[in-house]
Order: sequence, then structure tokens, then C-alpha cells
Amino acid sequence: MYHLPAPVRRGLYFGLQRAVGSRIAEAWREFQRWEGFSPARLEENVDVKLSRVLTRATAESGYYRKLGLVRNSGETVKDFLQRFPVLTREQLREHFTDIVVDRLRGEILSPASKSSRRYDWLVVKTGGTTGHPTTVVHDAQARDWGRATRLASAKYCGHPLGTRYFRLWGSEPDLLKEEATLHLRIQRNLLGEIPLNAFRAKEHELRHHWETLRAHPEIHSMMAYVDAAVSLALFIEDQQLDRPKLKAIMACAGTVMPEWRDILQRAFSAEVFDKYGSRECCDIACECREHSGLHVYSPNVFVEIVDEQGNRCEPGKTGRILVTMLNNPSFPMIRYQIGDMGQWAEPSGCPCGLPYPRLKDLQGRQDDMLVTQDDTLLTSVFVRHFIGFSLIRQLIREWQLEQTGAGQFIFRYIPTDRANLDANLKKIRESFKLAFGQDAHIQLCEVASIQPGATGKIRWIINSWKR
Ligand SMILES: [Zn+2]
Repeated sequence: MYHLPAPVRRGLYFGLQRAVGSRIAEAWREFQRWEGFSPARLEENVDVKLSRVLTRATAESGYYRKLGLVRNSGETVKDFLQRFPVLTREQLREHFTDIVVDRLRGEILSPASKSSRRYDWLVVKTGGTTGHPTTVVHDAQARDWGRATRLASAKYCGHPLGTRYFRLWGSEPDLLKEEATLHLRIQRNLLGEIPLNAFRAKEHELRHHWETLRAHPEIHSMMAYVDAAVSLALFIEDQQLDRPKLKAIMACAGTVMPEWRDILQRAFSAEVFDKYGSRECCDIACECREHSGLHVYSPNVFVEIVDEQGNRCEPGKTGRILVTMLNNPSFPMIRYQIGDMGQWAEPSGCPCGLPYPRLKDLQGRQDDMLVTQDDTLLTSVFVRHFIGFSLIRQLIREWQLEQTGAGQFIFRYIPTDRANLDANLKKIRESFKLAFGQDAHIQLCEVASIQPGATGKIRWIINSWKR
């Protein structure tokens, strides 16, 4: 399948999907139809879907029925939505079976349930970076739409379905599945994927990744865990290796810091596209070629950003991201608190022509916020910028900051050069104190590598302090 041209790949992909019972082709057509909507038409269509989700949930799901919510006459669907409670991970875990609609209550008895039918509902487990995996159900429709969102991401990043690509990935369930199901292997082959294991962060493995990139000069695209791609880029620069030439990098599973974008562009000569998504909500938003924010995939999700009091945030104000899934009727997820912080971009039209609203400044995970002496919460993006300011990149290749208690921090670092290292570490320690308070205690800890967590993501900022 290696030398197949892109249109043949595309045809085979849809053929295989049809054969396993997926209706991805229909979902994808519908998805693309929405791209041409005017803002007014988009809003109308979102309202129709949203209204259907809320009506069905209150009628068919035990969890939502018990809330006794009824839409008032004359109330807009978005105002009705705002009266729904936020769905947290804890609530998802506690009410899992009760959220399942009546029709499937007898089948989905626990997160361990499996459908006996082919291409049907599926229990999806989230990565669990926070230590507690959460499970949700995706029905066949949600799975089709999830696939459509992935096709959209590939298209917006300039490597549409059929284009071959490297996949620098590290999700454990993904790796296990790759070993287990032949179907997935065939599908990935069909998509023309060259896998690179993002769990491998040691030097000889980074070298192996570089050799793989060099062995395929005909491939110009990469989808990658952004942190793994940055590690690889830094390794290539530090070792002064020939730089592989790519055109596009889809940066996934983490916030793309401005300095990371520069590093990736430099090391791979590639345009970097920030993509936002999660296992439980599929792909949610992606940058277009204008790089003026991430377009939300309105055909599949309705996104809200709210402040601490639950009020809608205006563009430019950071808040919690809530996601309502629009195509998962068997397991309503309404105002799901995904655990990330972000902002809306100004609602002006994007020159690319997509009508979807744009997110900007994704501020990383809520759980990774660090706490200062006077109890202020600092987002991981802020902390990263702050430290980046005082750190000399030629001396320290990578680092990780972990908060282990009130005013207690561990700073792990991989040194590249020892001359002047001590002076730089002293400066870093001083800037920590400026950010976190003069009594903050920072333990400096030299390490040979920074290991990815259970889900394969390297976490640069960790709060392991249970408050
Ligand atoms: Zn755009």
C-alpha cells in the first residue's frame, strides 16, 4: 500500500469504513457542507442540533430527566443550555450508567461493557493525566463524526486524507490497540502513516526518529504530540544534524507555546498548526492557514467559555472550556468541563472563509495551575513564559516544574552545557521566588531525561499537590 496515490488511498479508506458499518462518508459530506455557511445560517444550524440534544437528553437520559429542566416558552436554546449544570469528570464517573439513554441502559451496565454488534457504541477511556481515567460512551454516530473531525483537522493543516504523514504519538491505548486490531493497522496503512513512538525520549531513540524522517524525504507532513516534536527538534539542533524538510506539522495534545512554534519551524522548516482535541470529545478545533486562532468544529461540538461564577466570558478573557457534544445521542454530554482554560478570539470573520468561531490562547489544563504564596493560581502557560524568560536555552535543554506542596517546588532540568550553568540556575531560582513568593522552596534536580507520564505526554508543569 506504500506507493498508492492519494485519491486511491481516499477511495479505499471510505470503502473500508463502509465495510465495517461506518457512515463516515455521510458525516464528512455534511461537515464540509457547513464550511460554506454564512454566520447566520451557521447559528441556525447549531441551534437546531443543540435543541435536539437538550430535548432528547431531558427525555431519554435518567441523569438529565431527574434535573427536571424544561425549556421556557420564548427562551433561546442557548439560554436554556445555560441552565444545565456543568458536567465534571467526577459527575461523569459517578453517574456514568445513569447518563446512558434508556434504550441502551440494559446493555451498557458499566464502563467495562462491550457492544456485541459490529461498529456500534464504544466505551472510550480518557488518558487520565490526572490519575483518574474517565469513561464516556461514543455511539456509532459519534464515532462517525469523530472521524469526520479528524479528516477536517488533516484538511485544515494542509495534508488532506490520502496524504502520507509521520505520526509522532504516545497514547498508551493507541499503542495497545495497534498491536491488537488488524482493522486499525490496515486503516493506518491506508492513510499512509509512518508511526514514531513518542514514549521514546532517550537519545538513541530520538536519533532513530530523525533517521526515519530522513529515510522518507517524500513525506512532508507530521502529526505529533507537540512536546515530543519539540524534544525531537531540540535534539536535532543540539546535535547539529541535517534538518528534515517538512511542510506542515499538526501539533496535538498540548498548548503550542510561541517559542515552540519557532523551534519547530526552525528545525523542520514547517508551518505549525495548533490542533485542540481530546479522546472524549474528539477533535474540537484547529488553526487554519491564517493562524489567527483555532476554528471550533461547530458541526460536532458547541463550546462555551465561562468564568468562576459560570458567566460567559467575553473575547480576550480566560475561562473554563465547556463542551456540548452535538452528535452523540446515546450518551448526552452537555456542558462537559474538559479541564482546559482558554479564550475566545474577536468574533470577526476569518480570511480563510470558515464560518466557525475561533479559540485562542489555550492556557493548558486547569489541573496544572500552580499556586503562589498568596493563593493566586498561575496557568501553566504563564509559568512557562515566566521561566523561559530567565532560562538560557544553550545551557538547559529541557525542564519540568512540579509543585509538591504549599510553597514547595521541584525543578528538574537536563543540562547541555555546564559553563555558567550555576549562575543561570541561581537566576531561575530568583525568578521563581518573584512569581511564587519569597518563602517558596525550590529544589533543583539534575536529570538525564524527563519521562512522559502514563498517557505519553511530557508534562512541563505539574501540580501534584492535592489541595
Ligand atoms: Zn480561518
